[in-house]
Amino acid sequence: MKTFPLSPSLKEVVRRIQQSGGRLWVVGGAIRDFLLGQLLGNTSPSPLREIDLATDLLPEQINALFPGSLRFGERFGTVVVRLGGEEFEVTTLRREGDYTDGRRPELVEFTDSIEADLARRDFTVNAIARSLPSGELSDPFNGREDLKRGIIRAVGEPSRRLAEDGLRAYRGCRFAATLGLEIEPKTLRAISANREVASQVAWERVGAELQKAMTAAEPSRCFELLRQVGLLDHCLPELAVCYGVTQNRHHDFDVYDHSLRACDLAPAEKPAVRWAALLHDIGKVETKTRQGRDFHFHGHEELSARLAERALQRLRLPKELRRRVTHLIARHMFLYQPQWSDAAVRRFVRRVGVEQLADLFDLAIADRLAKHREGRFHLPADIDELMSRIEELRLDETALTIGDLAIGGAELLTITEKPAGPWVGTVLHQLLELVLERPELNQREELLHEAERLLSNS
Ligand code: ATP
Ligand code: MG
Repeated sequence: MKTFPLSPSLKEVVRRIQQSGGRLWVVGGAIRDFLLGQLLGNTSPSPLREIDLATDLLPEQINALFPGSLRFGERFGTVVVRLGGEEFEVTTLRREGDYTDGRRPELVEFTDSIEADLARRDFTVNAIARSLPSGELSDPFNGREDLKRGIIRAVGEPSRRLAEDGLRAYRGCRFAATLGLEIEPKTLRAISANREVASQVAWERVGAELQKAMTAAEPSRCFELLRQVGLLDHCLPELAVCYGVTQNRHHDFDVYDHSLRACDLAPAEKPAVRWAALLHDIGKVETKTRQGRDFHFHGHEELSARLAERALQRLRLPKELRRRVTHLIARHMFLYQPQWSDAAVRRFVRRVGVEQLADLFDLAIADRLAKHREGRFHLPADIDELMSRIEELRLDETALTIGDLAIGGAELLTITEKPAGPWVGTVLHQLLELVLERPELNQREELLHEAERLLSNS
């Protein structure tokens, strides 16, 4: 087996801990993802991966070994060590007593047994430790075997472990997506049976799990599991009600399945586009209207955008992400036609915003491809054409915002006696409209001339 790669900083951590008689293990996601990568024939682990370490030294000893390190977490049991630009979370081995409130164990006590420490962890695949520097593996719950078989299984008795901590339900569904594993039936039943406990979890923790699910190859696995266990209703009711809502002749899938497929087809490295794809049609439930033998959903994009804002706020996702997602959703219904004039193309670009164009196209392509079963995939030629036309317009030389105009408010004030006021913005907008029609007007003299004309007409 290829050995776990140690960066120079991690080697230094190992050296200092060994020197003071302590033991050290790589635990959690870092060792899990390394082993999974090996099983998949992938030998170079992500260099950006955060590394969780476990030790039998006490937090204050770690503090002393690494000056400047900070303590936080459960009773300050975790120490963040910063070394050579890297960060390690070093946690003292502990065993946990009973949980009473579905969130926190009653008592946390330190132990010197790595097995006891692994026993408090949520899933077998997360309960593997690799000793440093020896490389010896501790795997008392056969997590490696479960990784091989593609299974997520609770450590110990599933119903007890899922009742202890509601976050585990969400973590289980999230790992199923990010790791591409199945949740073992007994664990899945326990998640479902304990959905009440899971529904008590703080929204920001739920939001953080769903945000991580968005990095998966297929985030839909997470959302579909949440639906099956009865948690989608709780965390994303707007999406849950889309289940079974049929569409029209342009669609092979109901709104729910279409949304999940669109989400999977959006780029994995663009969480805003993935969220937008997942939620772009949630307004269809309320706007569905019969039209002859078929249905239409007029205005669903605005309603979807409003509902998405509400959902993302509930999940405490960052404001900037929400802004981008709702903007994309509100704009997703553009219908390009070859007869659009160049000015129409420029106006489209201005409405969307240059910086959001690429994302909107990613969303539109995912949306389009998610409408039909495979085999009926057709490349969205119209989207392709619109993209090439935008490129041809050489947007870098075309004014698309007021800031791109050759004159600003200060210059406007020099050609009139009028005191500054809202009229300045109005005139600049009118000038931009003119420039979008005729880009060659975007020159100082031309614009001042046009502005005089506009002012004398008003
Ligand atoms: P990733 O970092 O890829 O999201 P991870 O498994 O490292 O996954 P962390 O939240 O960093 O997740 O937690 C590190 C380890 O701590 C986990 O692998 C698991 O062993 C344990 N752990 C985390 N949260 C819980 C929990 N709610 N219940 C039990 N054990 C947990
Ligand atoms: Mg981790």
